[in-house]
Amino acid sequence: SLTDDDGENDGNVRVIVRIKPLNAKQVRTEESESVQVISPTQILVKGTKENITKNFTFSSILTPEVSQADVFEQSGVKDLIDKAVQGFSSTIFCYGQTGSGKTHTLTGPPHLFGDRPDPYSEDHGLVYRSFVYLYDSLQGHEDVTFTLKASFYEIYNEKIIDLLNFGTNQQKFLNVRWSRKFRGFYVENLFTVQCDEFDDLLAVLEEGMRYRAVGFHNMNEHSSRSHTILTVHVIAESKDSQEGVFISRHGKINFVDLAGSEMTKKTKSHGKTLVEANNINKSLMVLGYCISKLSEGKKRNSGHIPYRDSQLTKLLADSLAGNGVSLMIACISPTKYNFSETVNTLRYAARAK
Ligand code: ADP
Ligand code: MG
Repeated sequence: SLTDDDGENDGNVRVIVRIKPLNAKQVRTEESESVQVISPTQILVKGTKENITKNFTFSSILTPEVSQADVFEQSGVKDLIDKAVQGFSSTIFCYGQTGSGKTHTLTGPPHLFGDRPDPYSEDHGLVYRSFVYLYDSLQGHEDVTFTLKASFYEIYNEKIIDLLNFGTNQQKFLNVRWSRKFRGFYVENLFTVQCDEFDDLLAVLEEGMRYRAVGFHNMNEHSSRSHTILTVHVIAESKDSQEGVFISRHGKINFVDLAGSEMTKKTKSHGKTLVEANNINKSLMVLGYCISKLSEGKKRNSGHIPYRDSQLTKLLADSLAGNGVSLMIACISPTKYNFSETVNTLRYAARAK
């Protein structure tokens, strides 16, 4: 349940870092690197002046040569899926500046979802791999019946857009409501697809990716400013053989591709009004604030957690607090050019530990 101020929230956010490889042009121009991995958990960021260095520690650092398959193996995502199957709420966030590899990490390159999607590609990201793992782990439970449901939506400027139903609902924004029954927030009238087959789940991912590629806003601008949330609900029903009672558990896993973390500065420099600038980043700022309060709560009573201050934190509150589990993957580009954004990303991520 969503509790604001009872001090019960023992923030449960694990933070790892993924470093993007240099692209061909950066290699060609011998662009100098700003990050140095000094141990499996420690990273050093160096500025243009050699004497500016920042040192950070995280639970794991995935270096540029780590493959998509190994990111899945090493990130602990399997644990989060197991938790969802057991009835908990879990969330995987990718955080970082635009171009740092968030979408690559979660879904892989867009061509995977083009006219001829390739199910065997090594480029598939965490979402596809999680679907495979999830379906496998639901097999062989004769005593339990599982039902999967999925939704895919976007938060843009604090407005909710359904990525599965935009054809008819293009200009309509959905509302976030409080459910008294479930003691949590939900998106009203969100299209939710029952996924009996693996391909149904894949179709949800593809449909949302297609929308993102042809969306009605300017593509780069829109995708770097919006948060997308793909949710898979895992409903398990079983009959207790001893007592003959019916037990139902409802877990879920959210895959969250966050807006580019550079936005605060950019929007200000483009002369947006303060209200606009605030709104575009509100969810990102409130998320950072909530998870840092939660992580303080591990050490002492942290008091009020302001989940209600943004759409994103309202909708993810159950995996941030209580028994939920979250994984934040901080994505960074290792060039000197990106030094300050990299430091900002790692600072934000470090607050969540
Ligand atoms: P973001 O979603 O953070 O804006 P993207 O995931 O779109 O960033 O990545 C930007 C570019 O870098 C894309 O062309 C992507 O394919 C490439 N890229 C990102 N991460 C990797 C990686 N680990 N290996 C190879 N290419 C990558
Ligand atoms: Mg992206």
